[in-house]
Amino acid sequence: MEDSDWMADRAARIQGRDLDALYSEKTHLVHGRFGAAHWDYKHHIVPPASASVAYRLNTSQRGARGFQEFGHDHLGDGEHILIYDRLDEPTRAMLEENLAYAERGECAVAFASGMAAISAALCTSAASGTHILTHDVLYGCTFSLLRNWLPRFGIEASTADFLHPEEALKQIRPNTTIVYFETPVNPDLTLIDIKAVTRRVKAINAERPEEQQIRVIVDNTFATPYGQRPLTMGADVVVSSLTKNIGGFGTDLGGVVVGPASLERAWLGFRKDFGGVLSPRNAWPILVYGLPTLTIRIRQQQQTATKLARFLHRHPCITAVSYPGLDSFAQKELAHRQLIDYDGHFAPGTLIYFTLREDSAHPGANGQRFIDYLAENSYAITMAVSLGQVRTLIEHPFSMTHSALAADASARSRIDPGGIRLSVGLEKGDDLIHDLSEALEHVFQPQQRA
Ligand SMILES: *Cc1c(COP(=O)(O)O)cnc(C)c1O
Repeated sequence: MEDSDWMADRAARIQGRDLDALYSEKTHLVHGRFGAAHWDYKHHIVPPASASVAYRLNTSQRGARGFQEFGHDHLGDGEHILIYDRLDEPTRAMLEENLAYAERGECAVAFASGMAAISAALCTSAASGTHILTHDVLYGCTFSLLRNWLPRFGIEASTADFLHPEEALKQIRPNTTIVYFETPVNPDLTLIDIKAVTRRVKAINAERPEEQQIRVIVDNTFATPYGQRPLTMGADVVVSSLTKNIGGFGTDLGGVVVGPASLERAWLGFRKDFGGVLSPRNAWPILVYGLPTLTIRIRQQQQTATKLARFLHRHPCITAVSYPGLDSFAQKELAHRQLIDYDGHFAPGTLIYFTLREDSAHPGANGQRFIDYLAENSYAITMAVSLGQVRTLIEHPFSMTHSALAADASARSRIDPGGIRLSVGLEKGDDLIHDLSEALEHVFQPQQRA
């Protein structure tokens, strides 16, 4: 049999089966989706990393057709005409196909960073004169984008406490077009009830004409699609930083927007013109290393996180631990309903937020001494921002990732000056406990103990 026939036969055999029914997410994330019209690779086991800024167009008619079709037929089965990397690109398109699958979305568009994806998701659903309603605790750069940049273009934003969705959604205005939040919230790991929000927004939308529909956009960076799929709970759009747990190894920035096919054209157009495109060189490690290992990394990391959270919870010098997997977690019922992995098991996540006992005259001072000690003395724990890597990272949100909120008079009270965020990696749990214990011993000398 001709080699090409053999490959075509195999492809037909594979495609002829109901792959979604036969194989689990864990397997799909390793093998990819094989439906991509973007690349005709046949004998590669690992998808090739492509690198071509521009593409041969053959004839002026074909070139013109490529431009006409850009953003229209991305999901169609006709010939896909590649033109220029910033418009569409095969390695990145394979990643997008797998991310759409992972999030249960119809399409995904990848950006240069999480912030580029968030900018695109917001700007394509807003316009001058419209309003965005968000939860009052947000990743610092998202907060700054809404506070410092979008108002320049006539897009207004205000915040509400989405821990009480009914109350928060009373802040919706006639010109509101976006409801935006993270859950779990960075950094305090409180949860927002996605179904409660989307149910209420759908009721409001039912009374509105098409052009005034409100979109619910959820930042799923903390849970990852492994631990939570907001689109299945009624959200319209999911944004994620690929830099964190999806990339997983801390080597590449990236971001993604996932949602209905009806929005793909706007996202691609925005990316083309604002230019925040994910480089295929950065897409490749996320496609080849990040996504295939996502399920196993998260499962291991959250097992260790549960162990560390219990240790911290029992420790006399720790006043509060927020971790969805603890019995003491305030929103335990919601956590078990919303944070569910592909196999239907509870997925409490890989981050822990906690506070040390503080002297009321110097709030946050013990927390800072604690992470400074770890920074200087710990082998297993690294003081750094970012999260979701194979290494355990610790940081102080008030002065670091969330300093934009801390600097804002109205938001300041929502960020605890003593709060510490721990992103659990793949080290042995006992080693991490060893380093945490030693730092706590150092901060709370015996005479200071209550
Ligand atoms: C890090 C982060 C972002 C931004 O992602 P980048 O890839 O750093 O641009 C957005 N949202 C949350 C919740 C994050 O943790």
